[in-house]
Amino acid sequence: MANGVDERADQLNKNCEIEDAPSTFKAVVWQHFGFPVSRNDKGEKQTDKRQTICKSCRATVAYNSGNTSNMRSHLYITTQKSSEHNNLL
Ligand SMILES: [Zn+2]
Repeated sequence: MANGVDERADQLNKNCEIEDAPSTFKAVVWQHFGFPVSRNDKGEKQTDKRQTICKSCRATVAYNSGNTSNMRSHLYITTQKSSEHNNLL
């Protein structure tokens, strides 16, 4: 189920709005990730629930229906190479 969003790409979304995960999402990683929000032609907000954005570095991380392992590995891997995420774990 690889869908092309990989760690190396590190697509940054500096200007992207981030919507917090609903409070029903209990996993700790949701404190560090939100969903990207875009606007359609009418200026209406649209939330893409197939990917998440790291609030620390704004990298896009794929999110597959309830599976947060991509997000956890993002926090883990990124902590190894930068201090940016050190306070997250
Ligand atoms: Zn990050």
